Amino acid sequence: MKKDESFMTNLTKFYMLTLLREEPRHGYDIMKELGARLGKKPSAGQIYPLLKKMQGLGYVTRSADGKKKTYKLTAEGKAFAMNMMDRFSRILDASVRQRLVKCACCGCEVYSGSVRQRLGSRTFSFCCTSCAAGFDGR
Ligand SMILES: [Zn+2]
Repeated sequence: MKKDESFMTNLTKFYMLTLLREEPRHGYDIMKELGARLGKKPSAGQIYPLLKKMQGLGYVTRSADGKKKTYKLTAEGKAFAMNMMDRFSRILDASVRQRLVKCACCGCEVYSGSVRQRLGSRTFSFCCTSCAAGFDGR
């Protein structure tokens, strides 16, 4: 089956995929969970067409227990979810890396809260005040 990810156009959709990866869920549960986690409840019009699309692609199966329908990722759908998450984490990783500051003393990388200190005409960044205090500019 060819990979079709063109429907992955926003974070809500991506998040829905991660929810289904955790466990099979009812459509209503998906909406409720998305609302809780993203702070904005999506409409049925956003969720059901997407579930249908994913069913059509073979990523999701639907089973009925009583009145409620449960959606479950297929093996293909799980592989797709893994692939999407992998790519997403690489994007995140790249943006985190851009923010990292290397300590001039010990070389460890700091995401936020680095200590900056001027030495002569240069400014250096450090992971902590003791690194800053023990650094002589070399
Ligand atoms: Zn350090």
